[in-house]
Amino acid sequence: MNSVMFTDRNQLWQELKSSAENRWDVIVVGGGITGAGILRESVRRGYRTLLIEQRDFAWGSSSRSSKMVHGGLRYLAAGKVALTRHALHERENLIAEAPRLVERLGYYFPLYLKRFPPRFMAGILFWLYDRLAGIRNHRQVSNQELKQVFTRMDTSNINGAFYYTDAVTDDARLTLRVMQESIKQGGHVRNYTRATSLLNAGERVQGLTAEDLETGESIELQARVVINATGAWADRLGNAALAGMKIRPQRGSHLILGADRFPVPHAIFLLHPEDGRRLFIYPWEGLTIVGTTDIYHPEDLDIAASMTPDELRYLLTAARQLFPENPPTRDDVISTWSGVRPIITSGKSGDPSKASREHQVWVEPGMVSCSGGKLTTFHHMALDVLSKAEPFLPPAAPFSSKRIFSDPAVEGSEIMPEDPDRGERLLGRYGENAAALLASAPASERATIAGTLTCLAQVRWALLHEAVLHLDDLMLRRTRLGILIKNGGAGILDQIKPLCREVLGWTEEKWDFEVQRYLQIIDRYYMVPAAI
Ligand SMILES: Cc1cc2nc3c(=O)[nH]c(=O)nc-3n(C[C@H](O)[C@H](O)[C@H](O)COP(=O)(O)OP(=O)(O)OC[C@H]3O[C@@H](n4cnc5c(N)ncnc54)[C@H](O)[C@@H]3O)c2cc1C
Repeated sequence: MNSVMFTDRNQLWQELKSSAENRWDVIVVGGGITGAGILRESVRRGYRTLLIEQRDFAWGSSSRSSKMVHGGLRYLAAGKVALTRHALHERENLIAEAPRLVERLGYYFPLYLKRFPPRFMAGILFWLYDRLAGIRNHRQVSNQELKQVFTRMDTSNINGAFYYTDAVTDDARLTLRVMQESIKQGGHVRNYTRATSLLNAGERVQGLTAEDLETGESIELQARVVINATGAWADRLGNAALAGMKIRPQRGSHLILGADRFPVPHAIFLLHPEDGRRLFIYPWEGLTIVGTTDIYHPEDLDIAASMTPDELRYLLTAARQLFPENPPTRDDVISTWSGVRPIITSGKSGDPSKASREHQVWVEPGMVSCSGGKLTTFHHMALDVLSKAEPFLPPAAPFSSKRIFSDPAVEGSEIMPEDPDRGERLLGRYGENAAALLASAPASERATIAGTLTCLAQVRWALLHEAVLHLDDLMLRRTRLGILIKNGGAGILDQIKPLCREVLGWTEEKWDFEVQRYLQIIDRYYMVPAAI
């Protein structure tokens, strides 16, 4: 079985500098899930495609979402049936194609006394939600069942609930897996490479100037079509089509609690006692997530978003409904994260929670831009973008399979007989590479790290093959150790260090520099805010 490696950054840069290699069919700017999905569809059509990302892959919203792969009850409630159908179709497809990376999860939707929606309306909503997905999973449940599932929950203002299913994923690994599939078919990706300006010939975009943010070196790259997939940054690339557009950044924050004291076997959709907004509390990677807020974020987007003390207080207040006898406090929070949604507005003010999450596409000569949308609908967005890019490209090569992910064609028990379940999990995250990942590490590196489901073999693989440049790439996006372990996993860095030294050749000084840089990132963007 051939394993797929991420492109060697240095080698690729040298190739880009030679004039023979700097002409592309498609250059995708932005290494989040949208860019990854577009890359996937572009290489499938036989186009020579390069993706560049200014920071690390999935550094933007695509590692900081709520990680739900869902149809969106809110869309359906707003009457957007076609949109919900698309998202549900994508959900079902992702569950089928990438099992254990995208996993079905049970959700409880409590019916609050004297609050919207009434039972009959909720019943219609969930019936339709399931029907559009082609499944039948919803049912009504009593307060008694709710109490059985969420044992300490206060149900005094609740009159039963609906149970239904959606799905969750690891957003950063989903992005990486889509890239992996694209690389396998000939796609190229380069992180820490920023598009600084566009190259124009008259009205037509002909390429861009790319800067290696590690060295400061710039080169010009030509492309038949440039695709702007920069999410919340979409209006900053300077292309004419977005000149009048307003992308309103909205921050959403989450916190993680330990499941030992705050266990949730399923997701629950609670009403916040202060403002009546719906929030989720759900299990993820063996821990409990509370999210999310939805706040205008006018800050500099080049600085990662982070949670404010008020957001922390707000989320803990919501969590206390589930654990009234054992209310979580800031000391119980393992980590936090905040992401920025690119909400495309007409400029009018209004409730941001009600603003459209639909993607939009803008076309101009030689360039297509796409922003908004959801993690769930990345494939649908990619198809839309590629169809709009067609006039600038030669005819696509024929392709037979429409699968996003290739089938690894082995079972978890074959690659990890001692723990088939973890084997399946690795197959979900690494696809065809899972067997090579395990084979490339000594057996001792299969042991999980600090109570997480991640092992050192995954760390070794990421360092060897997944374009890790900095410690935060490894701890926050190739693995999620940095948010799953208290203090950003500072206590396990000694376990990671020998591998970074061995595989990446980091000197003692480089290691110290990376640790310092990493701990600053953790402290500023992923820890509990200083005061409530
Ligand atoms: C708090 C929150 C919760 C969410 N929850 C969900 C959810 O549960 N389910 C769901 O389906 N969706 C969810 N979403 C939406 C989802 O996360 C986003 O729609 C999706 O991640 C957007 O992906 P993207 O690739 O368009 O943007 P991003 O992931 O932000 O990627 C854009 C990338 O472009 C890069 N870039 C910018 N400028 C340049 C440049 N000049 N050169 C090179 N690179 C550049 C950035 O560094 C960034 O990495 C959520 C979003 C947020 C913020």
